[in-house]
Amino acid sequence: MNKKEDCIFCKIALGEIPCDKVYEDDNFIVFNDIKPIAKGHCLVVPKKHYETLLDMPSTLGTEVIDLVKKQGLRLMKEQKAEGFNLVQNVFPAAGQIVMHVHFHVIPRKEGDGLRMFEKKDDK
Ligand code: 5GP
Ligand code: ZN
Repeated sequence: MNKKEDCIFCKIALGEIPCDKVYEDDNFIVFNDIKPIAKGHCLVVPKKHYETLLDMPSTLGTEVIDLVKKQGLRLMKEQKAEGFNLVQNVFPAAGQIVMHVHFHVIPRKEGDGLRMFEKKDDK
């Protein structure tokens, strides 16, 4: 287990600090975001510490995609969502705050008003 001291998601993965866990297996943990942007917003997180997507072995890719699909389908059922966003921020310039790679799964409904990325005018 490559844990990084003072990494909040490493601590969550090891059960050292609590989370609202929705799923766990050997390589991943899924828990609800502490500040959800929509009800059910959850995070798919590898248990090992990789700072960004660029550090995560691509061999985990299939597992991640399977888990994202599973969580998206769960949210469509449980939250009656009509769709979901998969968001993955790489480096602070792109909005990454927690430097332990994680995948946001965000339930969406028609007309929910959530605007993920504001497009700039061409001006
Ligand atoms: P980022 O901006 O790095 O892609 O997203 C980090 C996410 O982690 C944020 O949505 C934030 O609300 C969430 N988060 C930060 N600290 C904690 C925590 O201690 N517990 C949980 N459950 N979520 C957290
Ligand atoms: Zn970590």
